[in-house]
Amino acid sequence: MTDVGETWSGTHRFGARRLIAAQSVPEVQEVLRSRPGPVRALGTRHSFNEIADSAGTLVSVLDVPPAPRVLGGGDRVSVGAGIRYGELALWLEEHGLALHNMGSLPHISVAGAMSTGTHGSGDRLPMLADAVRAIEFVDAAGALQRVESDDWRFGGFLVGLGAYGIVTRIELAVQPSYRVRQRLHIGLDWGVLAERFDEVTASGTSVSLFTHWGSPSVERVLVKQRADASFDDSVLATTREAEPDERFDQRSWTPQDGSEGPWLLRMPHFRLEETPSFGEEIQSEYFVARTRAAAAIAAVRGLAAEIDPHLIITEVRTIAADDSWLGPASGRDSVGIHFTWARDEDAVRALLPRIEQVLAPFDVRPHWGKWHAFDADRIAAAYPRLPLARSLFRELDPTGVFSNEYLEALGVREAHTSPTGPL
Ligand SMILES: Cc1cc2nc3c(=O)[nH]c(=O)nc-3n(C[C@H](O)[C@H](O)[C@H](O)COP(=O)(O)OP(=O)(O)OC[C@H]3O[C@@H](n4cnc5c(N)ncnc54)[C@H](O)[C@@H]3O)c2cc1C
Repeated sequence: MTDVGETWSGTHRFGARRLIAAQSVPEVQEVLRSRPGPVRALGTRHSFNEIADSAGTLVSVLDVPPAPRVLGGGDRVSVGAGIRYGELALWLEEHGLALHNMGSLPHISVAGAMSTGTHGSGDRLPMLADAVRAIEFVDAAGALQRVESDDWRFGGFLVGLGAYGIVTRIELAVQPSYRVRQRLHIGLDWGVLAERFDEVTASGTSVSLFTHWGSPSVERVLVKQRADASFDDSVLATTREAEPDERFDQRSWTPQDGSEGPWLLRMPHFRLEETPSFGEEIQSEYFVARTRAAAAIAAVRGLAAEIDPHLIITEVRTIAADDSWLGPASGRDSVGIHFTWARDEDAVRALLPRIEQVLAPFDVRPHWGKWHAFDADRIAAAYPRLPLARSLFRELDPTGVFSNEYLEALGVREAHTSPTGPL
């Protein structure tokens, strides 16, 4: 048994007995064919909970080729599943191409982001996995399988939570490269946000609201505008543009000075070459239908005095609906209410049920890769197509090789006795 280490944030120490950093697809197949007991794929470890863990073996495909290549008419690329978004973005830009969006940080792997429904912000921008057009994966028997977007089950493969196999290659829809301006605005009145929420989030291609809940106004509005589109951002006249010394730390954040730059240096919040986010932290995020955004935000504001002492920052984003089975914005245009917490684990554990209680009337869903307090009943209520996903995972992996305690506790996989093979 070797020490597999922790998640990026240190909020979970892996219990898996070994980590295999595969160098090729046949090597991944060989691992599964050797009947190794429980196996899970591990990405870049940026999830905050135990979702990636296994009672047995973790397999990383971060080093597995192939290098990206452009397919067919140039509107699709094929990538090794372990490539980090930041590396992919640089390669795409060199080829005059772009993705529809990025998450806040470019350090995560494409397969890891797909598997948890990772998203950025944008009224018209769905989660990152929405760009996926085909997936190749190694199944529980070690066979290499391919599934394409015209398969009726494809929605179950997108936010797959690592539950059906080790994804080795992904094809993504791409578009011509574009340029973006990013500006930071200070002090948006809460009343303006409540009454004109749609105008605020439509003021850019991608809009993020950063605040503490007890602040007299929403502290900061980060607006990313594509240079080839026009926007009515008159609602932001009620704010003022940030002075240089008010902007987020310019060494780790992408430029917020209104200058135009390539999409890959504006759509993510963080630069690839720097340490992202705030460091010692825990993250949680909840999704509600965007039609109910104002009421949900008001409900969380009611807990401001409890939340703020433990909060580093909240970020509110919008995510366009998608057709995945387990995506956080599946079937409904959504708002994500995110919390970056200080590393006070007991306080955060105590707060999450309180937040989930006030958000319960809004049919709230949690981020699969961040801290939450959901149980199987509430997950089932939040995801009407969970039974379909569960039977897909069972069909592909009848003995539960890719299952783990987290998925079983949430009712995504049935409880399994350990699959055959040494642990
Ligand atoms: C600083 C920071 C900022 C973040 N910002 C955002 C954000 O803006 N938006 C957002 O939605 N989330 C955000 N997250 C969360 C993060 O994007 C997700 O948790 C994402 O899943 C992490 O990807 P990863 O490669 O680290 O995967 P891991 O955390 O290593 O794994 C996540 C899941 O993916 C599965 N998986 C990984 N690789 C494969 C594979 N090859 N085949 C099959 N399954 C696989 C694992 O089994 C596991 O279930 C942030 C996290 C951090 C630390």
